[in-house]
Amino acid sequence: MDITKIDSGVLCDMGGCVRKAAYAVSMEGKPLSSRLYLCPECAANLYGLLGSKLGGEKEVEDEEDVRRRDC
Ligand SMILES: [Zn+2]
Repeated sequence: MDITKIDSGVLCDMGGCVRKAAYAVSMEGKPLSSRLYLCPECAANLYGLLGSKLGGEKEVEDEEDVRRRDC
């Protein structure tokens, strides 16, 4: 997966967002039409959300590891 900076005037793909996309998320070997377009605002929101959601999950896993080691 790759993220490319674009300036082609396409709209953001996030539901309800009408801003212009600045980034394209693409999958290797897949057609360009399957790219996901994101505006800077949605990209920043996603980045923060992913960081908190995925980062939070990782912390929980680490806690379980510590508990298992204590037993
Ligand atoms: Zn957007």
